Amino acid sequence: LNRRLAGFGTTIFAEMSALAVKTGAINLGQGFPDTDGPEEVREAAVRALREGRGNQYPPGPGVPELRAAVTAHQQRHHGLSYDPDTEVLVTAGATEAIAASLLALVEPGDEVVALEPYYDSYAACIAMAGGTRVPVTLRPHEGVFRLDLDELRAAVTDRTRLLLINTPHNPTGTVLTRAELAAVAELAVERDLLVVTDEVYEHLVYDDATHVPLASFPGMRERTVTISSAGKTFSFTGWKVGWITAAPALVTAVRSAKQYLTYVSAGPLQYAVAEALALPDSYFTGFRDDMRARRDLLTAGLEEAGFGVFRPAGTYFVTTDIRPLGYDDGFAFCRALPERAGVVAVPNAVFYDHREAGAPFVRFAFCKRHEVIQQAIERLSTLR
Ligand code: PMP
Ligand code: GLN
Repeated sequence: LNRRLAGFGTTIFAEMSALAVKTGAINLGQGFPDTDGPEEVREAAVRALREGRGNQYPPGPGVPELRAAVTAHQQRHHGLSYDPDTEVLVTAGATEAIAASLLALVEPGDEVVALEPYYDSYAACIAMAGGTRVPVTLRPHEGVFRLDLDELRAAVTDRTRLLLINTPHNPTGTVLTRAELAAVAELAVERDLLVVTDEVYEHLVYDDATHVPLASFPGMRERTVTISSAGKTFSFTGWKVGWITAAPALVTAVRSAKQYLTYVSAGPLQYAVAEALALPDSYFTGFRDDMRARRDLLTAGLEEAGFGVFRPAGTYFVTTDIRPLGYDDGFAFCRALPERAGVVAVPNAVFYDHREAGAPFVRFAFCKRHEVIQQAIERLSTLR
């Protein structure tokens, strides 16, 4: 392993899912649903395969049907207009979108400001691009992990090239407010920064929270790469179909990197995702309401079991504080949890440079069937 990737050996998700398989524990670690997405979308994939649509290399930017569906989705849900021919790029999941964006836009030595805790691939991709990661720590305040806008401002230097934002935020469940996003946008414009914003949980916001795309703020459309994925919105994490929307020059740049990473993305699945994106509003609200019920079930159970709970306003993760249970090291806690309670979770410290800031926090995924969540709760209630 070269120096850039030193320390990025195995992802925590692979480690924890392997531990779940080995011990037979309930896997609330890695975020993937335990039921598949809509049947008509699966049928659309089968039809495309049978009819030979996309079985050979599809167009590099993505099949026209999917690019049109992505722009229609941005218009319908967010009021954002994009040109399907020049302002959309289909990628192999959000993961490739993140990698290609950073590889295309970051010069060696550039600083990339990212919210901490950060999704693990951000750190690895900044490193592969030769950039320097500058984390801004979200801090717990009255049950919510909050962005300190002064800290964000102070993190920007003359070497900063890019802000890497994620809202709704994995792993904390924080949804940045309109006012916070407006401040982020103002900073980006004032300091002439590019912004890459990972909005894969755009449809998973609960209660009073709303998701506002960063690209919708003044001065942002031309400097923002917005990332999303069918994995999260349609429960097809194994399909690895994602996309970016951005101004033509940014899409062209990211496409240059994508060409030499995967060249193109899986063809038949793109036709199916195009159909998924056109599902009626009731699909999207139904999916959200369904996840909210699971959130409520798991958060209530974790509270009952003695965890400190940061009730998430978005995503399908809940971050907990294990100190009320008498522990303070999330790593040790998660390594022992399968044997002790038959449940797998993820230590938030892996998402931090300042490991000590993340030490007492542990993430559980609630994108699981109710009976699975219920059983996990019963097992966790023995910890006290
Ligand atoms: N970004 C975030 C914040 C995520 O949580 C995930 C998946 N868990 C991804 C990106 C990766 O998405 P995909 O599976 O589409 O590559
Ligand atoms: N994004 C998912 C999570 O946060 C996992 C994806 C992965 O394993 N790379 O759990």
